[in-house]
Amino acid sequence: MPQHWQKELKKALKGTAMDSISGASMYHPAGHQLFSTVVTDSQLQQADLNDPLDPISLQFIPQIKEKITHPEFKSDPVGDGAATASTGLIHKYQGRVLLIASGSCAVNCRYCFRRHFEYNKNFAPRNNWQEAVKYISHDESIHEVILSGGDPLTLSTEKLKGLTDQLEALAHVKTLRIHSRIPVVLPQRIDSEFTDFLKQLKLNIVMVLHINHSQELSKDAQSAIQALKACHGLILNQSVLLKDINDDAATLVQLSHDLHDLGVMPYYLHTLDKVQNASHFEVPLSQAQSIHKQLQTRLPGYLVPKLCTEIKGQDSKTWVNNA
Ligand code: SF4
Repeated sequence: MPQHWQKELKKALKGTAMDSISGASMYHPAGHQLFSTVVTDSQLQQADLNDPLDPISLQFIPQIKEKITHPEFKSDPVGDGAATASTGLIHKYQGRVLLIASGSCAVNCRYCFRRHFEYNKNFAPRNNWQEAVKYISHDESIHEVILSGGDPLTLSTEKLKGLTDQLEALAHVKTLRIHSRIPVVLPQRIDSEFTDFLKQLKLNIVMVLHINHSQELSKDAQSAIQALKACHGLILNQSVLLKDINDDAATLVQLSHDLHDLGVMPYYLHTLDKVQNASHFEVPLSQAQSIHKQLQTRLPGYLVPKLCTEIKGQDSKTWVNNA
């Protein structure tokens, strides 16, 4: 019997939000044809579809601007292909590997750096994660496994347990990091089965949420984050700096305070990964640095996210806080 959150996810993936979205002034089917529209009822309830500058609508509603192609924007902006070490396993940085745990998300963010990613060829859970676990078991320098996607929390808790049981048998793996937008966009997914699963894990747990604007934080999302807090892991947030959505200091100061109220620490403020069809979201680096400077003067240091960019082929993210 599918759980409530699974039914909601299925609805979002089927595009049932299209009825409300296609009436929005910014909607254009050309964007949808390039990257399908997926959004949950939960996020739509937070949006004002009649406002062309609404920070939620801009993130999830397809626009004609997605047809723009830009010579500096690529289908694989961060070099995932070159860093793929085995099926669905990306090994870019020392000590950490990233697993493509799912090909689905509960929302399709229009600026997504993996909007052109070939998930059908890169899917780590195949055959109960066998290939990925074999790779990790042969490299004792790997101490952290990062679940990404797509969104790893689109998988059932049982499927996630199938992986963690195997990771916990590897003495060199200490930390499980989960990158997910789901606690905010599909908060009912954070059910007691999932929090019980987290609580019994022996691995260190790091959850990295993805929230760009305080308006995303519905009451249900706040409750889901509080439920995660009770699991005693570290909870961080990363945001992407996006034109007309959060490209001003006041919005980001508010977000840092709201995250702190929920016990979530701001971690990264990413510049936009230059993925083809999303160039209209770009904020110039000089403007990003000026916004970041204002954050430094208006927030205590522990609430200032690091401004960073990902450069293909580099062995870490690059901090670009200063000009
Ligand atoms: S949730 Fe993450 S992976 Fe999924 S569409 Fe949004 S940015 Fe991309």
